[in-house]
Amino acid sequence: MRMKRLPTALSTNPKSLPDRGNSCIRVALDVPLSKLFEYSLPEEIDARIGDRVAVRFGAQQKIGVVIEERVVPELPAARIKSISALRDDAPRLPADWIALMRFLSGYYQRPLGETVIGALPPRLRSTKPLPRKVLKEEPHAPGARFFARHRLTEAQTGVVERVTGGFNAFLLHGVTGSGKTEVYLHLVAKTLERGMQALILVPEISLTPQLEARFREAFPEARLALMHSGLEDIERTSAWLAAARGEAGIVLGTRLAVLAPLPKLALIVVDEEHDASFKQQEGLRYSARDAAVYRAKLAGCPVVLGTATPSLETWHNWILGRYERLELPERASPGARLPVVRMVDLREDPAEQGFCKKTLQEIEKRLTRGEQSLIFINRRGYAPVLACEACGWTAGCGRCTARMVLHAADAARTNPNGSLRCHHCGAEGAIPRACPTCGNVDLKAMGRGTQRVEETLAARFPGARVVRIDRDSARRRAELSRTLEGIRRGEGDILVGTQLLAKGHDFPALTLVGVLNADTALVSTDYRAPERLFAVLAQVSGRAGRRERPGEVLIQTRYPRHPLFAALERHDFAGFAQAQLAERKAAGFPPFVFEASLRAEAPKLETAMAFLKNAAASVRAPDEVRVFDPVPHLLTRRAGLERAQLVMQSTSRPALQEFLTLLSENLFTAAPRAVRWHLDVDPIEFD
Ligand SMILES: [Zn+2]
Ligand SMILES: [Zn+2]
Repeated sequence: MRMKRLPTALSTNPKSLPDRGNSCIRVALDVPLSKLFEYSLPEEIDARIGDRVAVRFGAQQKIGVVIEERVVPELPAARIKSISALRDDAPRLPADWIALMRFLSGYYQRPLGETVIGALPPRLRSTKPLPRKVLKEEPHAPGARFFARHRLTEAQTGVVERVTGGFNAFLLHGVTGSGKTEVYLHLVAKTLERGMQALILVPEISLTPQLEARFREAFPEARLALMHSGLEDIERTSAWLAAARGEAGIVLGTRLAVLAPLPKLALIVVDEEHDASFKQQEGLRYSARDAAVYRAKLAGCPVVLGTATPSLETWHNWILGRYERLELPERASPGARLPVVRMVDLREDPAEQGFCKKTLQEIEKRLTRGEQSLIFINRRGYAPVLACEACGWTAGCGRCTARMVLHAADAARTNPNGSLRCHHCGAEGAIPRACPTCGNVDLKAMGRGTQRVEETLAARFPGARVVRIDRDSARRRAELSRTLEGIRRGEGDILVGTQLLAKGHDFPALTLVGVLNADTALVSTDYRAPERLFAVLAQVSGRAGRRERPGEVLIQTRYPRHPLFAALERHDFAGFAQAQLAERKAAGFPPFVFEASLRAEAPKLETAMAFLKNAAASVRAPDEVRVFDPVPHLLTRRAGLERAQLVMQSTSRPALQEFLTLLSENLFTAAPRAVRWHLDVDPIEFD
């Protein structure tokens, strides 16, 4: 027997191993159970750890992945079925990838089978074999032309030289417009020169076309694999295969790209590392940023977390000395400065139809100078409330504890009469002609969203081209990237948008940013709200004045002296982070404790609450773990289900993990059918 013995959890004394001919393997299958399944191998099939195999499971054929090989079976020989076939149409999944899956499954408390199979593109989960197509290509090194065309500033050079060698986590803290992307390009160039692979993670699909274009232009010979959920099955599969075969030197994608096998991985970049979209919100609720750091450790390569506004977790890791901080404190473009940030005091300059006089004057100046303005309001639709002033009725969602948002007719005429929509469950209804309670026909739209702001601006500046960008105006990705490209070329005078516009885009003619409703986040009960508000305001402000023309940011507020705004005016992230961390420490919030949340949904609130109470009582919590009483969510009812949650905290991560493992074992075996539940480890949303 020439087989090399691989370490497996259950392999024992070699003498007791069965013959090669009837050797037994354990396979991960996508079933809601945390165990692996035993199968035997027919003589002629040599399936190893990381191979995909087709097996019979009950009456079905399923695809599984071999996790353990040559094991001593636990089942009696007569009950062990043989695998149906080996699927060698895709590369064997490498050992570090399986180690990553084991870690994610354990840490985020999901069955290993679900984790492993869920990380494969849909075509590789199917029992149908892939069409044979072998493309053998090695990652191409960048030509000398790359280095001639991509000159770095002194600060950028310093950063690029620092990122070398084995595992190390870097926080690349660069102000908006400091040229982080140029740094990424050079790090990728160094990786490609060594014939290795670079993984680049970005938060939004809408950011991929822009970055993809820059990478393709910089490295025309290199194979780039694009990975995000918006791709067709075929594209996704071929990108995954190019990554798994080591052919793609550059793998660019959203969070799911962190799950791709990469045999030659030598660099990971997480761009906009603070962004909440790196956290998966269903199934395996992993943080792609945290998984990236773990992955870099497994691969022994550097990981670069780039951002202008680090998450407090990352900032804290730097303070603790776990991460190294690299700084780009200035804008890279010659002559470009950070924008001037000013508060417009709503008590002195009261808003009319949402706008202070000062803001309108500044927009007008931009119009006469041929420059662009951006009005930021983090609320889409026409108005958040439809109300009857006679009796106090407001339009609510029948399935959620939430108000319906009024949406006006849109230009694409997909919604010719306007409608009421629930932003939590997607319910949609007609706008009532009269109050359903008292019959009053004079219903009022209260507050404003992007549509109403667009309408106000179009009426106030009739000659201006007003462009609205939010999830309603940009339903299709292709459409959005066309619009954004147009804005970069100078099409559009006034842009109205949600945070879809705030991230990463570079609009050369944009010199004014107006922020309309920042105050609402100041009074939020979510302890992460200030961190998010600071990040989004710094991001949206960062769109202004990225070239030689100076940029200005106006924030309309009732609290012009608020410390958060003061830090923003000074571009002082460090000061803001220090104050926030002090507050979190005093209050006992992450990153000073580790947190997990058990959430339950049921038709009746009592059912969900009782489930959580029983779950908490089913495992005795050790002293280091604090289990809070279950509470209903703030948005208690969503899509017809009542929701509650139970928060668990500990200063010891191992203690919390151990407790969660016992808890989830009970839940997977004993949860009542009427309750939908999930565990969220390191949760970031508490709605
Ligand atoms: Zn009424
Ligand atoms: Zn709803």
